[in-house]
Amino acid sequence: MQIGVLALQGAFIEHIKMLTLLGVKTVEVRLPKELKGLDGLIIPGGESTTISKLAVNFDLMGPLNEFAAHNPVWGTCAGMIFMASEADLDQPLLGLMDIIVKRNAFGRQVDSFKANLTIPAIDDGDHRPFPAVFIRAPKLVAVNGKARVIAELLDGTAVAAQEGRWLATAFHPELTDDDRFHRYFLSLIGT
Ligand code: GLN
Repeated sequence: MQIGVLALQGAFIEHIKMLTLLGVKTVEVRLPKELKGLDGLIIPGGESTTISKLAVNFDLMGPLNEFAAHNPVWGTCAGMIFMASEADLDQPLLGLMDIIVKRNAFGRQVDSFKANLTIPAIDDGDHRPFPAVFIRAPKLVAVNGKARVIAELLDGTAVAAQEGRWLATAFHPELTDDDRFHRYFLSLIGT
């Protein structure tokens, strides 16, 4: 198994470290040809404006969409914004998932925070909370069509969604030492 991590900008090293600890081979993806032979792709957090601009410049938009048509893809934070069909971003979106996303949704005073989330989809998720790290995070405003909310804050704000083999999280599992979300993503391969 080989997982690609889009390495244009942002927290791609942290995803690579987590996957490596799980014994998974990784590839840093910057060019369309680097998608060849991969079993899945992670789009990291960072700055969605920059990630989108670079993806356009590197001619990755079409190839990323084609790859996603046949493979699992997971976007964290800026990656979630990039995967959305609609977001308050002045740059092209991949538009993979039927979700509407609002950027920087948690205001300045709480730019970053941690929350323990109940995520039934992951291993032991009903009993052991997942430590979610939010950094200038977006939120899900609407989850439509075949997409489903898989995690929310206590106040009901939706912060993770799944649509088939595509995942989007407003938070950063790669910045914790809890590998359950990465294992959940890996479990979607071959399904
Ligand atoms: N605020 C960033 C954006 O709008 C996302 C932050 C992150 O990825 N940690 O792209």
